[in-house]
Amino acid sequence: MSAGSEARRLVLKVGTSSLTYPNGKLNIRCIESLVRVISDLHNCGFEIVLVSSGAVGVGVSKLGLLARPADIRMKQAAAAVGQCELMHIYDKMFLEYGVTVAQVLLTRHNIAKAEHYANVEGSFEALLRMGVVPIVNENDVVSTEELDEIESFGDNDTLSAVVAQLCHADLLIIFTDIEGLYDANPRSDPNARLISRVDAIDDKLRAIAGGPGTAGGTGGMATKLSAAQLCMDSGISMLICKGDRAEVLYDIVEGKKVGTLFKKKEGLTHA
Ligand code: GLU
Repeated sequence: MSAGSEARRLVLKVGTSSLTYPNGKLNIRCIESLVRVISDLHNCGFEIVLVSSGAVGVGVSKLGLLARPADIRMKQAAAAVGQCELMHIYDKMFLEYGVTVAQVLLTRHNIAKAEHYANVEGSFEALLRMGVVPIVNENDVVSTEELDEIESFGDNDTLSAVVAQLCHADLLIIFTDIEGLYDANPRSDPNARLISRVDAIDDKLRAIAGGPGTAGGTGGMATKLSAAQLCMDSGISMLICKGDRAEVLYDIVEGKKVGTLFKKKEGLTHA
């Protein structure tokens, strides 16, 4: 059986490049199909947590800024504006299918102590039991990498792995702009081959994973590998796949071979 066909509780991470156009405006077609497929899977009995980026990108566009600001205060301001817009759209679209969503904004500080961790863990459990779809992002307004490397997750790949641990997910799915992890850079090497399954992350794989992917987001393959390591160490499988078609989620839950699967270590239970 594949990881997808066994999974009932899913965490899905969607990055800025899947949610917005390069000019920062919302890609309504993508968001609409994402919301439709998630709602359908939710109706079918899956419990789904969505980790959504896009706050800074959408804020930049809404404020009419020409580019992602380098200044921390401006970035925080853009995130505050963009997060609001993003949740407004999600709430409206999910409501069309009768699905209730919740906004969960996290910083590392919120889960640093055991009792804080348990508190957030309990909130996720309560939301999922009530059939709510939590939509998670880093609380970029108070937590910025530049201000505090210890407090900040820095990127939503890492955040999504932590969320998968917090809600004891069966599977973390990370949507990205390529099919998965390749044995060489597919953008420059035509012979690069997709790696369909990873059982252990070694130095060779780390060397293959390069820097950040696109200008709009922060994550690249390197942060995805760290996220995979976090998941695998906690007994959670992780899948990276191309997220331009939300319908790929159906293939995943039906157990079809998609993207790169980082298989959890057998015998481990969730952290
Ligand atoms: N939290 C950031 C945002 O919403 C994105 C971080 C990331 O994509 O890794 O803009």
